[in-house]
Amino acid sequence: MDVSDQATQREEQLLEAALSDQAYKTRLTADGTCKNCGEAVVAGMFCDADCRDDFERRERAARMNGVGYGA
Ligand SMILES: [Zn+2]
Repeated sequence: MDVSDQATQREEQLLEAALSDQAYKTRLTADGTCKNCGEAVVAGMFCDADCRDDFERRERAARMNGVGYGA
């Protein structure tokens, strides 16, 4: 791989990251239920830190697998 290939790849990664972040934020709106387990929450999007970590781990894994949002 030469330098220009690396630059192109880097740009693609940045674009993908930007798009995923946008989708991520759009999806993450507080609606009174935990995004991880579905339990009712008073404030925020998760009932506790474990659920948040769990959710983030799965989101990251989905991104790495190339699984799209809403798939
Ligand atoms: Zn939860």
